[in-house]
Amino acid sequence: MTTTQPSSTDLSSDNSFINPYIGKVVCVGRNYAAHAAELGNEVPTRPILFIKPASSIVGFDEAIPAMFVDKRRGKSYPLHYEAELCVQIGTDLKDATLDEAKAAISAVTLGLDLTLRDLQNELKDKGHPWERAKCFDGATVLGEWITPKTFGDFSSVKYQLFINNSLTQEGDTALMLFPVYELLVEISHAFSLEAGDVIMTGTPSGVGVLNAGDDVKLTLGGHTWETWVE
Ligand code: ZN
Repeated sequence: MTTTQPSSTDLSSDNSFINPYIGKVVCVGRNYAAHAAELGNEVPTRPILFIKPASSIVGFDEAIPAMFVDKRRGKSYPLHYEAELCVQIGTDLKDATLDEAKAAISAVTLGLDLTLRDLQNELKDKGHPWERAKCFDGATVLGEWITPKTFGDFSSVKYQLFINNSLTQEGDTALMLFPVYELLVEISHAFSLEAGDVIMTGTPSGVGVLNAGDDVKLTLGGHTWETWVE
């Protein structure tokens, strides 16, 4: 699924700004102080980074399974949602300046960083990496890409997650510990970002578990992406 682009629900005719090739998805942990607090984590002094593979990407046209089944061990884990603002970059970035980071953002959407929280906690307790809890097929749900033109300098972008029409998470880039451009600068000093790569900018407070039958809706400006859990 490395070249999968979520199916189109966007009505804009010019989609040439979208890079259909996503090499990797870089995620930021604890970028909202209130979210760090709700999971009992300290507020970081620099961005916490991890990567979700392109093979984990699905679109909003697919249902989210209520459980991840580890067939080898006969164990099942519920999926937890994390709604996040996502940006795609249109040019490579290496040791980027703030201006280079600003110019690189080519598309924007919302996404779900789906997480097997119980397994993640087991792994964290052992000091092990998180991949088993964050990288499974379907763990990265991305909406249809939209142009970044209407988001200004990303200093005050608000977005919402509704579960069963109840407001569950509300993100605001003004509340980020590390703002969007700063994230790109920081990441590009840790490793290369390549055109098409996606950055999930961290989740606000209000994370929780998904249940079979849930309706899951993300809104950003006038855009809506909706899926369900089965
Ligand atoms: Zn996340």
